[in-house]
Amino acid sequence: MNHAVAANPDFDCQSCGACCAYSADWPRFSLETEEELERIPAAYVAADLGGMRCENDRCTALEGKLGRSVGCKVYEMRPIVCRTCMPGDDECLMAREQFFGVAAGL
Ligand code: SF4
Ligand code: SF4
Repeated sequence: MNHAVAANPDFDCQSCGACCAYSADWPRFSLETEEELERIPAAYVAADLGGMRCENDRCTALEGKLGRSVGCKVYEMRPIVCRTCMPGDDECLMAREQFFGVAAGL
């Protein structure tokens, strides 16, 4: 989720959350510094320390109800992949389609 730039302003991340529950392979760490990673509470970090801890593909830092009202418990220190995903980009559309159907990508 990233609210900084809206590629599609019609998509409201705070009432979606699809990309945060799409795949356990998605919120993985990449170019974060040691300092940045240390700021993420350990409870939300995967056992292999390579990304966010997920349960059934849903990131454990995601709170709320998918498609209704959601929030990121580690928003200020969320991984790079979460910062770069933009509403309306390919990954967003793929995630929305999986949860809400093809119409959600329009
Ligand atoms: S799937 Fe798209 S609209 Fe939904 S939270 Fe992610 S970036 Fe926002
Ligand atoms: S860290 Fe936050 S923004 Fe990233 S997948 Fe988890 S809930 Fe979503």
